[in-house]
Amino acid sequence: MQCPNGCGEPMKQLRVERLVHDGEGQPLVMVNLLMNVCWECGQESMPLESARAVEGALRGEMASTRQFVAPMYEMA
Ligand SMILES: [Zn+2]
Repeated sequence: MQCPNGCGEPMKQLRVERLVHDGEGQPLVMVNLLMNVCWECGQESMPLESARAVEGALRGEMASTRQFVAPMYEMA
């Protein structure tokens, strides 16, 4: 896949972790999410299968494999 910014190098497929939010603002962590990334300019694009996986998770069609709980820190 070519970079939409017209870079010479084709985009590389990378598996990443991504935090997404559902309609109520609840965070979900997607692990091993496939993304196309441009090595030259850093542009990312989400392949259709990844978009479907995120939609499925947001709709509750996927079972979560792990629970993720992170501490939060607020600057005074
Ligand atoms: Zn690029």
